[in-house]
Amino acid sequence: MKYDYIIAGSGCAGLSLLYRILKDPQLCKKQILVIDKEQKNKNDRTWCFWEKGNGLFESIVTHQWETLEFLSNDFQHKFDMTNYRYKMIQGIDFYNYVINFAKQFENITFTSENITGITSVDDFAEVTTKNATYQAAYVFNSTNLFYPKMDTANSLLQHFEGWVIKTKTPVFDATVGRLMDFRLSQEHGATFMYVLPTSETEALVEYTLFTEKILKKEQYKKTLEGYIKDYLSIDNYEILHTEFGIIPMSLAKFSRSVSNGKHIINLGTAGGFTKASSGYTFQFVQKHTENIIELLKKGKHPNPKVTFREKMYQWYDRTLLEVILSEKLEGKEIFTTIFKNRKIETILAFLGNESSILEDIKVMSCLPIMPFLVSGLKQLK
Ligand SMILES: Cc1cc2nc3c(=O)[nH]c(=O)nc-3n(C[C@H](O)[C@H](O)[C@H](O)COP(=O)(O)OP(=O)(O)OC[C@H]3O[C@@H](n4cnc5c(N)ncnc54)[C@H](O)[C@@H]3O)c2cc1C
Repeated sequence: MKYDYIIAGSGCAGLSLLYRILKDPQLCKKQILVIDKEQKNKNDRTWCFWEKGNGLFESIVTHQWETLEFLSNDFQHKFDMTNYRYKMIQGIDFYNYVINFAKQFENITFTSENITGITSVDDFAEVTTKNATYQAAYVFNSTNLFYPKMDTANSLLQHFEGWVIKTKTPVFDATVGRLMDFRLSQEHGATFMYVLPTSETEALVEYTLFTEKILKKEQYKKTLEGYIKDYLSIDNYEILHTEFGIIPMSLAKFSRSVSNGKHIINLGTAGGFTKASSGYTFQFVQKHTENIIELLKKGKHPNPKVTFREKMYQWYDRTLLEVILSEKLEGKEIFTTIFKNRKIETILAFLGNESSILEDIKVMSCLPIMPFLVSGLKQLK
């Protein structure tokens, strides 16, 4: 059987696209095959992101914050947001929500298989697994089969371990999300902690580093224990959940399409929607999949063109990453300077690719010119 669409990889991007297709009266009857090597039944990650107003996945938002806190040794501030909200979604809630919704549709088939190849053949694309070959007019891929080559010369790893902790007595203010606390040793590279309380007794505490290599398991544990004791002043707590992750922050060029962009469209991290300078992906996946739906509805090729503004943001990201990679400035210094000198709404608009050119200039003008100029010119090539 030939499908209309194959969704290769059903994580954040694959399921975001599937949900949007099924919510659309014009597209929801398409024959779709969803392939993933995993069952998507584990709470393997927590997504945080910011947006204005209600998003498509509002009903599964675990918690949201109107105030964000930034801390560094010489600057500490709580920012009240006017338009943006910082939101959290649990991986398992997202997987269950989309998969259960999709199960109501007879035209959607799920299969658990390891994909070994995806190729363009004439006017369709083919997905190969150990036991079968599937065909579709379009394959939307979020597996790592087409990742560019990444190494220490062009990439950093954003790696982190997070613990959801529960205390016996009320200690947290659930209205304030601690976005970045840089008061930690920077010996390995840009290093910060974030603390996202979902109630007075429960919070996600995550130790995050942007470095070349990951640490030993015990190092994450030791730093988390030390931070909870010394910075949060908590002695008595229970660990309800742990998560570990590695996100590529890379200058390598991720391609949005494969084989001339005809029948294989890359989504999510595979399509370059993980922001090179911060690792945030969720909100960019939502914009991309929304654009794909618009094109599919118009009967157009579903590979949205890279706009001039997107190219500008890619250049900013690459420049910032290059500055950190080449050790011209420390990540801590860059983020502290921005948060010290600019309003939170401007910073979030800039980091979320939603700023005006004037806001871009505002953010960039508070940073030292030379390192950014040198790296920026290098990244223009
Ligand atoms: C622990 C963790 C926390 C994160 N937190 C945030 C956050 O707070 N905010 C944010 O914006 N981003 C965050 N990210 C980054 C990013 O949002 C996630 O990695 C996101 O899941 C990327 O979406 P994706 O669809 O590209 O990849 P994934 O969600 O990883 O989906 C890819 C899917 O492809 C499947 N797959 C891969 N290879 C094959 C194969 N050969 N055959 C079949 N299936 C295959 C995988 O099983 C997976 O289901 C986090 C990442 C991690 C790991």
